[in-house]
Amino acid sequence: MATVEQQLPDGSDIRQHNGIVNGSDGIPVENPATGEIVATVPDLGPEAVADMAARARAIQPEWEAYGFAGRARVLLRAQKWVIDNADRVIETIVSETGKTYEDAQLAEISYAANAFGFWAKEGPKYLEDEAVKSGQVLVKGKKLILRYRPLGLIGVIGPWNYPLTNSFGDCIPALMAGNSVILKPSEVTPLTSLLLAEGLRECGMPEGVLQIATGRGGTGAALIEQVDMIMFTGSTRTGTKVAEAAARRLIPASLELGGKDPMIVLSDADLERAANFATYYSMQNAGQTCISIERVYVEEPVYDEFVAKVSEKVRALRVGKPEGPGSVEVGAITFPPQMQTIKDHVADAVDKGARVLAGGQELAGPGRFFEPTVLVDVDHTMKCMTEETFGPTLPIMKVRDADEAVRLANDSPYGLGASVFSRDTARGEAIARRLETGAANVNDAMINYTVLELPMGGAKASGLGSRHGAGGIRKYCSQQAIVVTRLAMKKELFMYPYKSRTSKMLAGLFKVMYGRGKRD
Ligand code: NDP
Repeated sequence: MATVEQQLPDGSDIRQHNGIVNGSDGIPVENPATGEIVATVPDLGPEAVADMAARARAIQPEWEAYGFAGRARVLLRAQKWVIDNADRVIETIVSETGKTYEDAQLAEISYAANAFGFWAKEGPKYLEDEAVKSGQVLVKGKKLILRYRPLGLIGVIGPWNYPLTNSFGDCIPALMAGNSVILKPSEVTPLTSLLLAEGLRECGMPEGVLQIATGRGGTGAALIEQVDMIMFTGSTRTGTKVAEAAARRLIPASLELGGKDPMIVLSDADLERAANFATYYSMQNAGQTCISIERVYVEEPVYDEFVAKVSEKVRALRVGKPEGPGSVEVGAITFPPQMQTIKDHVADAVDKGARVLAGGQELAGPGRFFEPTVLVDVDHTMKCMTEETFGPTLPIMKVRDADEAVRLANDSPYGLGASVFSRDTARGEAIARRLETGAANVNDAMINYTVLELPMGGAKASGLGSRHGAGGIRKYCSQQAIVVTRLAMKKELFMYPYKSRTSKMLAGLFKVMYGRGKRD
């Protein structure tokens, strides 16, 4: 068993800060595809987190003083580092998630490499001083500036499904903005974050600017008590607790939470494409993606053909322990309790009359696997249609028409992503606009996540705030409005002493400026 140790800037072992004397007292990290323990990491308590915060705050001004160019240089080196070390990073991701080589390569390596470059290049544009123009007569001739400055110390708390993309990915814009960051990865998947932090040190990031606080939920809670802003990705249940804790401290919280993404297949859709997308985007990462296709609504005339196509494709998928590129399509269930949720949703559906057209069972160990599963004859009395399953299951429901599909798609507390398939792209777009979700793809799915120029965030119980786009980096800053008066007189017209003549003149001025419209 390997023990992962993290050196603190003062050279001490991070475990000392939590009173941990040997690896067995920490958190064991399991490979979900084999059941083997691959490492043990420290379970940091509030004191260790407070120490980290003090270190992070001490170094932050130096990092901010690097300026955009200096910070971008480090991030661009990190972009190259990710590609140079891709095999090592993929191996680490696979070892703690049990996902396939391809799921780690496509959805994690390519995301991180792109993100390092994107924020290095676009970050300065999103954060540069903005010269503001105003129609307000009182500020005529003055210089108006909107300025963004880093908040200081950002806490990032991440889930287990994408240890690089979702946990680590949110650190990148926070760092580019000039903040120090403490990342609390999921206790289930801490190794990727530790490796990436090592990579950033190699790339010249000063010690203490990015630190990894390994631990359980309590470590996350302790982190919220120390930081100036919290970026959280995880379940809606925990996200609510995070929001409460942030509100008590009056710090901003950005929340990326659960989803139950619907796909709508209209009768004029390219059914082969729709079936391929339904199969891939429900089973990719073994369905453990916040924006997985979790439920499908198909218009009656094409329902049978669509179901036949999807069932055939899903039955052909290979599930099991990933043995490198091309070995299996569907990997392990990463988080042990998730298996119970998946089995419960399938059993609940079958009890209420659903039929299983593919899969339906947990595989025997070693490792934790669930067969890629297709369910039909489903409805909204079933958990598989209303609660987040987060597994390799695809329930498909027949609907009369597009209106019924939209009504059912919106019949959810969640509102993360959605997709609509139709050859009539104008109609597809019109339907996408009726969906109560943070993102909607027409003739595609999930692809919006790769567009870092577009905001990615949830509506309803799927979150508050967003990542990516201008807002994805500005949220790590406070805004400062600066007004500079250049042609300065001794006093302004409206100042003391008040005079009737001046008041009348101002009344006339306001009338000219604002009083010319009609009241019809
Ligand atoms: P959880 O909410 O269980 O955990 C998320 C993180 O919060 C973990 O690091 C966890 O630590 C930590 N945590 C637990 N309790 C607290 C607390 N009281 N205070 C602070 N932090 C705490 O989510 P999962 O890890 O199970 O992730 C799966 C969920 O994430 C799904 O619902 C999925 O939809 C969502 N998700 C959303 C995304 C989005 O962009 N909207 C993207 C990816 C996932 P520990 O693990 O140690 O308990």
